Amino acid sequence: MNTDRRELVVIGGGPAGMAAAISAKESGVEDILIIDREYKPGGILKQCIHDGFGLHKFKKVLTGPEYAHKYIKRLEEHKIEINTKTLVTNLSQNKIITAYNSSNGMFKVKADAVILAMGSREKTAGAIQLAGTRPSGIYTAGLVQKLINMKNIMVGKEAVILGSGDVGLIMARRMALEGVKVKAVLEIMPHASGLPRNINQCLKDYSIPLKLNHTIVEIEGQKRIKSIIAAKVDDKLRPIPNTKEEIICDTLILSVGLIPENELSRQAGIFLDNKTGGPLVKNNLETNIPGIFAAGNVLHIHDVVDYVSEEASRAGRFAADFLKNKSLSQDNYLSVVSGKGVKYIVPQLVKTNLKQKIYFRPNKPITNPKVVVRIGNEICFSEKFKALHPSIMQKVILPETSKSTKAKFLEVAIE
Ligand SMILES: Cc1cc2nc3c(=O)[nH]c(=O)nc-3n(C[C@H](O)[C@H](O)[C@H](O)COP(=O)(O)OP(=O)(O)OC[C@H]3O[C@@H](n4cnc5c(N)ncnc54)[C@H](O)[C@@H]3O)c2cc1C
Repeated sequence: MNTDRRELVVIGGGPAGMAAAISAKESGVEDILIIDREYKPGGILKQCIHDGFGLHKFKKVLTGPEYAHKYIKRLEEHKIEINTKTLVTNLSQNKIITAYNSSNGMFKVKADAVILAMGSREKTAGAIQLAGTRPSGIYTAGLVQKLINMKNIMVGKEAVILGSGDVGLIMARRMALEGVKVKAVLEIMPHASGLPRNINQCLKDYSIPLKLNHTIVEIEGQKRIKSIIAAKVDDKLRPIPNTKEEIICDTLILSVGLIPENELSRQAGIFLDNKTGGPLVKNNLETNIPGIFAAGNVLHIHDVVDYVSEEASRAGRFAADFLKNKSLSQDNYLSVVSGKGVKYIVPQLVKTNLKQKIYFRPNKPITNPKVVVRIGNEICFSEKFKALHPSIMQKVILPETSKSTKAKFLEVAIE
């Protein structure tokens, strides 16, 4: 098998892959190949026909395909090569990519640099150990979105949604618009996990009840789902006896989270963060393997696509820097750790002179908090926020410092 040589290969042609390739090209990288398994670029955006995309980046309300189209046009203007309908099956530590498509069969590409942009996949009934039997009529929210929006297939007449993630909220509205009776959205936590704007626009505007502190303890039905049994949970998320309630439905939609798609990263020996599910990265979005970078949902699950594009543009610039300099950076790094009240942080390694943006999510909603950053025991930065919510990614911008430190950790905490 011949092995082609390319300067930069981007795996995944969703919003992250497209933005990364465009910015690498604009930073001087000539030879770029994007590989995507689907029939055209755009990733998840292709099936998101609702609006709400591009508010930050373009100050406009766009649909998913409209947002994707802006980047597809720029890929064409920059003459960036993309192999669609091509599945990457392996990535090795020395940056050899094995891929397959129906015209070339199996082929290999050796890249000088790689950007991982494979996005994420949905958690399934098995992944959350859903109670009860497995009749038909149980779907993940993204799958229902694809069936309705792209294939014109309606999945049922009476639905319950488990989980209040953004995908589920958007599908609650979509199904209501299509005439489906959406009986309830059940959320195990005491707060919704989707964006507040989606709670208002997708549930309140359509009078769809949101039942917080609720889960499913039973599924009824043999061939097709007939009903679910919901129950309230206590503060340890255990179902409370005597709170069971039957909800008749022929469809159950799961919106219980996304998992970064990192099988290829694992094969390459890339270290993963068990909090984000994505690679551990330095402040330049480089993984532990020099020349392999990551951006978008493969790195951590983003709430809005605008931030995916912004992060991926940085990854493209950093990959271009790597290709120009090739030498490994010898800088000292501090490990960034999640302190009290913080669910996760990205990047996980920062240079000791700081001058760095750190992105984080809180564990739970909180008003008037102070975010405190410490190196060792010493506070190096703090900032007050009006409110923090787990559905909204936040950042602190650390100022540059010339102070030297022997500490190995930088901690971000909410107080
Ligand atoms: C249902 C839903 C609704 C959303 N609504 C909104 C919204 O209203 N507003 C908003 O701003 N954001 C929204 N988002 C979020 C936004 O769509 C995502 O943040 C964004 O698509 C992530 O981009 P990505 O490039 O990281 O991943 P993706 O869009 O998932 O793209 C990854 C690409 O990689 C390809 N790929 C993966 N593995 C391989 C492989 N092995 N070989 C080849 N190709 C591979 C996939 O085919 C895919 O094209 C929504 C997301 C979902 C799921």
